[in-house]
Amino acid sequence: MRLWSRELWRIIWLAFLGMCLGWLLGYPGFGLAAGLTLCLVYQLRQLRALFKWLTLNPHDEPPAATGMWGELFDRLYRYQKSQRITQSRLRATLARIQESSEAMRDSVVMLDRHGDLEWWNSAATDMLGLQTAHDRGQHITNLLRDPRFISYFNAREYSEPLTLTSPIDERRILQYQITLYGDDERLVMARDITRLHRLEQMRRDFVANVSHELRTPLTVLSGYLETYGDLKEMLPPRLSKGIGQMEEQTKRMQSLVNDLLLLSRLEIDRGGEDHQPLEVGSMLESIRRDALALSNQQHSVQVALECEARLVGSEQELRSAISNLAFNAVRYTPEGSQITLRWVALSNGSACIEVDDDGEGIDPVHIPRLTERFYRVDKGRSTATGGTGLGLAIVKHVLLRHDAQLQVESLPGEGALFRCVFPPSRVVNS
Ligand code: ADP
Repeated sequence: MRLWSRELWRIIWLAFLGMCLGWLLGYPGFGLAAGLTLCLVYQLRQLRALFKWLTLNPHDEPPAATGMWGELFDRLYRYQKSQRITQSRLRATLARIQESSEAMRDSVVMLDRHGDLEWWNSAATDMLGLQTAHDRGQHITNLLRDPRFISYFNAREYSEPLTLTSPIDERRILQYQITLYGDDERLVMARDITRLHRLEQMRRDFVANVSHELRTPLTVLSGYLETYGDLKEMLPPRLSKGIGQMEEQTKRMQSLVNDLLLLSRLEIDRGGEDHQPLEVGSMLESIRRDALALSNQQHSVQVALECEARLVGSEQELRSAISNLAFNAVRYTPEGSQITLRWVALSNGSACIEVDDDGEGIDPVHIPRLTERFYRVDKGRSTATGGTGLGLAIVKHVLLRHDAQLQVESLPGEGALFRCVFPPSRVVNS
């Protein structure tokens, strides 16, 4: 403010001086005009100096000036200097981030809010085939054209990663994960999981082959044991007891091998060929009869149909999954328990099959792990009931192949409810 009033005084002084001189010469008006013109010339010269400095040599020292103009030059100079320091700091940080992303083995691709490519590291060039010069600014789906990637990208639901082969090398398996950040921008990360994938494949093949190879010797063993079992009365008691136990264990091994083979098949082949609209009521009715036969009519098993729609899926797979749930309900509840198989329509167009019992229930700590292979709540009891520990793992896989989810609700002493929720795309109104 002081500078401003000093500048004002300077103008008033010059105008006054001009007027006094003009008055002495007999032309006060001309003197005043001359004084004001002098002021204007001074201001215009400073303005020109500022313009020249900012346009020609903005990095040089500012032009020398006094008063308000001098202060203005100084402040502009200081501001410019601090901006330059901030800029170089930002540039260094950006370079460090780019360097570290560059050093990453995973592909990193930055997209703007429209999905156009902004920046990527050299791993992305190697894995996805992005070319620095002409791919910048292109939409990602013009370069990664697999329909599965396009629908994953457009769905904007990135909680689960997507696994695909590399667009430039069929032998490489990549796992894509997209993250939304900033102003609707996206970061696409791709990771080479070829080795992991191969190991997983080897594990699956190994389990499938071993299970398959075990089938024949087990059939031979159980055949002989059955024959010896028929001759039990002719054998000494110790031997006949042993044969009985061997028969029992061979049966267990056979169901274990069958379940392992079923799981391998569910994992290996993609499925979907035999999917068709099914009458859930008749399927539940036949599962009810099987469950009653397993329980030796000692449980009360009912079917409740609260939905008229049909379910699109594989009859064989769904029957096996729901039978597993129903047989578990028989095996893990005491005699006389009430078991209900329900087909229910949900409000959003989806529907679910529920298997509900009023048995001893399951402690909630076990629920998240129930679908793991060989996970048992009570190991001794499970073995006694003839369980293989693979039942719920099979259920989970079958449901995955039907875009469905398994929900379990249970409390100790209050029974258990297993709910298979199918999306609207699987429910057709007949
Ligand atoms: P298993 O072959 O041992 O039955 P599952 O995968 O079918 O294996 O089941 C895993 C465990 O879940 C079982 O060992 C059992 O303890 C528990 N379980 C499953 N269904 C029920 C149920 N209806 N009530 C109580 N516990 C259950």
